Amino acid sequence: MSEIYDVIVLGAGVMGSCAAYQLSRKGKKVLLIEQFNLGHSKGSSHGATRIIRFAHTDHIYLPLAKEAYKEWDELSRISGDLLYKSCGLLWVGSPESTKKRADVLKSFDVDHEVLKGEEINSRFPHLDYDSSWHGLYDPKAGFVHADRALKAAQSVFLSNSGTIVENQKIVKIESSGDLVEVYSMTSKFTCKKLVVTAGTWLKSIFSDLNIHAEPELIGLTFWKVTKNHKNFLPANKSPVMIMSDNCEELFMIPDADYPGEIKFGVHIGVPIHPDKKDEIEPPKWTVDFPAEHIKKYIKDVDFTEPTRKVSCMYTMTKDHNYILDVHPKYPNIIIGGGFSGSGFKFGAIVGKILARMALGESQEGLNLGEAVHIFVIWRTEKDYCDSFFAMDSATSSLTPEPTLPENKSTGAGSDVKNTTESVPPTWEEAQKAGFTRNGWRRALKKAKKISLRPVLRAKERELRREKRKKAKEEGTFVPKAKKYRMSESVNKNRICIDLDFSSLMNIDDLKGTMNQVNFSYGINRRMENPFQFHLCGIDETMMKVAKQKKFFQNWDVNIHGEKKLDDLFKPEEIVYLCAESENVLETLDENKIYVIGGLLDHNHHKEYCYNIAKTKGYGHARLPISEHIQLGSRKVLTINQVFEILGKFYTTSDWKETLLSVIPQRKLVSNDSSNCSSENEDPDPES
Ligand SMILES: Cc1cc2nc3c(=O)[nH]c(=O)nc-3n(C[C@H](O)[C@H](O)[C@H](O)COP(=O)(O)OP(=O)(O)OC[C@H]3O[C@@H](n4cnc5c(N)ncnc54)[C@H](O)[C@@H]3O)c2cc1C
Repeated sequence: MSEIYDVIVLGAGVMGSCAAYQLSRKGKKVLLIEQFNLGHSKGSSHGATRIIRFAHTDHIYLPLAKEAYKEWDELSRISGDLLYKSCGLLWVGSPESTKKRADVLKSFDVDHEVLKGEEINSRFPHLDYDSSWHGLYDPKAGFVHADRALKAAQSVFLSNSGTIVENQKIVKIESSGDLVEVYSMTSKFTCKKLVVTAGTWLKSIFSDLNIHAEPELIGLTFWKVTKNHKNFLPANKSPVMIMSDNCEELFMIPDADYPGEIKFGVHIGVPIHPDKKDEIEPPKWTVDFPAEHIKKYIKDVDFTEPTRKVSCMYTMTKDHNYILDVHPKYPNIIIGGGFSGSGFKFGAIVGKILARMALGESQEGLNLGEAVHIFVIWRTEKDYCDSFFAMDSATSSLTPEPTLPENKSTGAGSDVKNTTESVPPTWEEAQKAGFTRNGWRRALKKAKKISLRPVLRAKERELRREKRKKAKEEGTFVPKAKKYRMSESVNKNRICIDLDFSSLMNIDDLKGTMNQVNFSYGINRRMENPFQFHLCGIDETMMKVAKQKKFFQNWDVNIHGEKKLDDLFKPEEIVYLCAESENVLETLDENKIYVIGGLLDHNHHKEYCYNIAKTKGYGHARLPISEHIQLGSRKVLTINQVFEILGKFYTTSDWKETLLSVIPQRKLVSNDSSNCSSENEDPDPES
């Protein structure tokens, strides 16, 4: 029987090398397998430098960055090589984006400065930005000595009795029971746990998972410093830079890779097969964008021609966040990937996290914030990505954004089918469709937010569970209100929300309307004797919004789809509730159907429902508000407030008590004029 390793790490890039190093520190028997020779340049971790920084637009990376610095310090100490250089980072961009980034650093108590226009140039004499630029300065940032860091992790690993096998491409992985077997063309290796850190090859290794972790080719260029060389030296605190221009994001590392040259990259690539990296030239704009930027804003550098060009690969997830998770089917396989062009700086801490995951240890003692909850693999599964991207565009399609030429239907099981638009999966497609780079990035960001929602919701659920448990222990637990079904209700009064107004509303109002319908549903479910509740006039757009919000699933409501009031009820049965009606509702009658207009008013459509009722010959009535209380503003209420009033009145038969308990105090007349709010200040959209 072949030797059994505690852990095999597949892939000796920065992530795999650091995971192996961290595992070896725990005294485990570890094998690190690499398909090429160590230090090769066919993946993502080669080269002399990678930027390290606190500054991030997304706060989830801040705790991770703090832990990463600690781990690089530790590896520097053990290896005796100082693995990063703090020369500062200057991130230039618009005043707004700079402020946002500064706010993130501020909220994590991280040292930083904001430099405005001229202040940038007086601090850094080789720069020439005008007043439209602001810069965020992160003094601790700088660059990791990438190749040295890789070597340091591998050397410490070897000196801790780790084993490295080079030039063995793993072609098959089998997990059976407690063991995992990995096969190259010539050998088989066995382990208890497998950590896969295969960079751009991740997707091909786990083709069955169908994840979105796309290889992209990135072009790097080097440019000659012609004068004032001292201004470009990291030793003189010449900063690494990120330039968020209108259309693209560039990064620059001062004189560190090759003497007298600075390195530029464009933080966007083109799709590639990872085995074809050296056969394809990066596109021309990987030279043009830096040249243009240098020409405009950086002095004393020859922008006419780069001195050298090299390429590298990113592994991009759709939301640009990473994957640190257990294989969904095999708990003894751990996956680290999708580092989306920004992972090197975190290598040392990612290695530690992966090592702990492989050994089944908790991440206690590490302050990782939300990161590990977010870096779950399922959010990168293609079906999931496709469905949330499609959902996002299903709503955004109502606004005049550019559209992709190609129709992409959503994956099986998706809520929104037959969607004709999709957010661009690649820059090339987006470009053809007329997206600017910023527009494309915005779309990606939006999708990212959406992708995080389920994770955050799961966290909220967990917190609620804990709170409930604590309340039970402390004897303060109040059980959730029981829910009642319409069929068991003695209340035969009927209420219908007429949703036949989607053509009059924008997407935000549609969403607002659906939220109010949802609140109304909640009210009905909690009534001991719920109303016979109907929804009608739901066109395709409204239905999409409802489904996107996961409404209507298993609802105890008569949902009539696109059918309109006329299709369902006789005109003489209908009582349309409108604030403008001269008729006053006095009581509820089981022979009538009380209709609430599902139209968010915002004062644009005054009397709309009233006019419909009159022209169609429906009955109409207003709630007896002025008869019982005095409102400080127009007697227009939200859909759910009207619903709640009807519900309360059903149980109390007392209009005054009902109105006082439902209508917010701020809407009532007060003698204290400072308490009067105008309608426009009212945060609830009104119907
Ligand atoms: C141009 C460029 C600039 C960057 N700049 C920065 C930066 O400034 N700051 C920053 O933090 N990050 C940066 N990054 C990102 C960072 O370099 C990557 O996120 C990181 O190197 C990814 O490491 P990895 O170990 O996941 O992948 P890799 O380095 O690609 O390692 C994966 C390894 O797995 C091996 N492998 C794959 N399949 C198999 C198999 N079947 N059998 C055996 N071995 C296999 C591969 O050969 C490879 O060696 C940059 C990346 C690029 C390309």
